[in-house]
Amino acid sequence: MDADQFRQAAHAVVEQKSLQTELPNSAPTHSEPWDAIQADYQNLVLPRMTDWSSPGFAAFFPSGTSYPSMLGEFLASSFAGSMFSWICSPAATELEEVVMDWVAEALDLPTSFYHNKPSSKGGGLIMSSASESVITAMAAARDRALEAIRLKDPTVATCSNWRQKEASNFVVFGSETTHSSVMKAAKVLNLQYVTVPAPYSNDFRMVREQLCQELESSISNGFIPVFVAVTLGTTSTCAFDDLEGIGKLLDDHPLIWGHVDAAYGGNALLLPEFKYLSPLLRPYASFTVNLNKGMSVTVDGSCLFIRDKFDLASSFTCYGSYLNPDKTIGGPQSLKIWFVLRSFGLEKLRETMRRGFQLGEEFANLLKDQQDLFEIISGPRLGVVAFRIKAPSSNGSSETLHERSNRLTLQVCQDVNASGQAFLTGCTIGDFYVIRMVTTHVSNSPASIRSILGLIIQAASR
Ligand code: PLP
Repeated sequence: MDADQFRQAAHAVVEQKSLQTELPNSAPTHSEPWDAIQADYQNLVLPRMTDWSSPGFAAFFPSGTSYPSMLGEFLASSFAGSMFSWICSPAATELEEVVMDWVAEALDLPTSFYHNKPSSKGGGLIMSSASESVITAMAAARDRALEAIRLKDPTVATCSNWRQKEASNFVVFGSETTHSSVMKAAKVLNLQYVTVPAPYSNDFRMVREQLCQELESSISNGFIPVFVAVTLGTTSTCAFDDLEGIGKLLDDHPLIWGHVDAAYGGNALLLPEFKYLSPLLRPYASFTVNLNKGMSVTVDGSCLFIRDKFDLASSFTCYGSYLNPDKTIGGPQSLKIWFVLRSFGLEKLRETMRRGFQLGEEFANLLKDQQDLFEIISGPRLGVVAFRIKAPSSNGSSETLHERSNRLTLQVCQDVNASGQAFLTGCTIGDFYVIRMVTTHVSNSPASIRSILGLIIQAASR
């Protein structure tokens, strides 16, 4: 092999071709045989998919699946309908209401979040994501606040752009560890966003006192707080914000819409040991849980529970004479949730969840056995452990021990991920760079978490 041949061969070995270069630029004019389509799927698409069901996958939060959920998706896609109003497929709306009430009951949510309870004005809706849930709730919160202002002083509504003018003073509150989707929703809706501290000393939780300070400071500067996002299970460390304390604060501020983002952590309400959280949800206007993150449901499975459906209706209803808007609208996603709940039953789902949480405890114990190498920064909590590598003391550089630990942790995370044998998420939290180990994925097991730890130790030793 000469140098030119070597260069050519080396390119072929290392070149990562993207699908854009592998696939034609245009759709075929005539039908192709299924075998050719299947072969391209197998050879070109599948190898480029990240395998969330691999035993080495410990990143993000789980995105579950299961045979009943897949069947639900499959059957849902067999309906050639678009379900934009009740008459388009009555069962879609009706099943969604039934299934959402099942979920509300399984999680012991306050009765105000049910569709079919006497005196309840609320209910659950299936959304595409927790991000969609929060922007939906926030838009309703904005419009509810505008309506309250108009009712108090009808003269504000005399100019055509009064809504934009009033809303320019509206403020949304979240913490340093609130998911980015909340800030993004505020940005899209053109509302101001205030970040409340959630420091290491509070285990990265947002607490009532710090929120209170930010609220008072905003009010004294002439702003109007309209929305607070409280997280049960933050993305970086699975921290639980001060649900109870902030709930009491909301009782004193009826204009503020309290939203509980429990995208991952909300699934834990299925377990008796977390039921103490359910009554604390009473002061909140909305609550989101992603069943795809904890209950073997395929994405999309985000449920948005609203205390007063009228708030959503007044914000989002736009009549078109052709739409026949006879009732609230459901979609076919309820089918897969219905199948999952019935096929597994709540007890089996609880068992699976507990097993994932237990693996988190086991992983934390393995880290504690190697205290010279690892420092746990937060957790274990619901199968999430945030930790970093302990740097060896001075190597003569100007870098502090803390900076070196952060740098090594980032390096280790990148090395493990580059191996292709495991996938971890690294993130910055406060002053720390941490690796998040998440043990609730579908294929995590005692053997898989040990093997991931082995890869981490190998990389750290290097
Ligand atoms: N909220 C929290 C706490 C999350 O951890 C996540 C994602 O992991 C989200 C919201 C966003 O979820 P989705 O991807 O469904 O929009």
